[in-house]
Amino acid sequence: PPSRLPRVGTTIFSTMSQLAADTGALNLSQGFPDFDGPQALKDRVSHYLNQGHNQYAPMPGVPALREAIAHKVQTLYGYHADPDHEVTVTSGATEGIFAAIAACVRPGDEVIVFDPAYDCYEPAITLNGGITHHLPLQPPHFTIDWQQLADLLHRQPRLVIVNNPHNPTGAVLTQQDLNQLADLLAETPTLLLGDEVYEHIVFDGRPHLSLLSHPALAARSIVVSSFGKTYHTTGWKVGYVVAPQALSAEVRKVHQYLTFSTSTPFQWALADFMNQHPEHHTQLPHFYQAKRDHFCDLLRNSHFNLTPTQGTYFQLLDYHAISDQLDTEMALRLTREIGVAAIPISVFYAEPPRDLHYLRLCFAKSEATLSQAAERLCHLS
Ligand code: PMP
Ligand code: GLN
Repeated sequence: PPSRLPRVGTTIFSTMSQLAADTGALNLSQGFPDFDGPQALKDRVSHYLNQGHNQYAPMPGVPALREAIAHKVQTLYGYHADPDHEVTVTSGATEGIFAAIAACVRPGDEVIVFDPAYDCYEPAITLNGGITHHLPLQPPHFTIDWQQLADLLHRQPRLVIVNNPHNPTGAVLTQQDLNQLADLLAETPTLLLGDEVYEHIVFDGRPHLSLLSHPALAARSIVVSSFGKTYHTTGWKVGYVVAPQALSAEVRKVHQYLTFSTSTPFQWALADFMNQHPEHHTQLPHFYQAKRDHFCDLLRNSHFNLTPTQGTYFQLLDYHAISDQLDTEMALRLTREIGVAAIPISVFYAEPPRDLHYLRLCFAKSEATLSQAAERLCHLS
């Protein structure tokens, strides 16, 4: 039978991580820390594993975890979420995003994404019969072109997907951006899907402005996050969805038959840890900003141009002074010739601009790894 996803191949994350493993390169491509989450959190997982919490969790998530999430979004974003009806624990943000898209998008519905767009959105839209419109963010700071968005909103799209902080560019939205978005959406039926998995990784004193923090936007938003980034546990694949009751009910219908529920001992452990260490996330900006600054400082004498990233644990390197190669070729060259694996960002575009000369590097790595990578990158001219 013809493929349902004819244009989809292996994701760039698997491809580059595999190449890094095959060549022995330092892997700064796929986004994951090379260090573990807190010991106390891992101890809670062992505790629950050994205390017989090994059967199905409740479909929407363990109540204590939903309550901890509701408490967090109330405290940080002033958003009141009823943990029984408006918070759903999912198997990673990836499942939450798929469930949200499947819950909203009917055949023929239009969905707007901003390019470069994280790669799990469009396949989910396509599988559900939707049509994806790609709006390019505007370099150098990868900002939204509001006029382009306004023009497309006349078509009454079902959904706009907003990834903030933004992977792969690190761009972070301002209050003005949220207000602008609210103005443009005011008279439309369009919903928002907020992918906020890097909500706690923002730099230089910026606040993270969740869609949940803006009442007019929150009323039409499904917001997804992930514990993987916040607790350095990307392999646990636990995330969550917060949305008003009617939208949450639809997301839960999909979640119920996509995975039914998410791994039990991890949920109990995360609930305990959130309650016992509510300050954990407040250390992340400093923790990752130190890594960003260390990495950027070491690259100051390289031939790359870079503007320190605003959020996420990704730094873009502009290599136009080194080569006019395509970024896909440049990424292979870096891996093979100097032993540093990176992500080309053109793969996140429907139509990559011709003069796109950026690579994305993940700095969620030990100081020694970052130093070694930077030293190798400085050799490139
Ligand atoms: N959205 C973005 C922007 C991401 O970078 C990631 C993963 N790194 C995800 C979603 C998926 O998160 P998870 O691993 O929890 O499925
Ligand atoms: N989100 C991670 C990144 O951006 C990758 C996750 C994955 O491999 N699916 O690198």
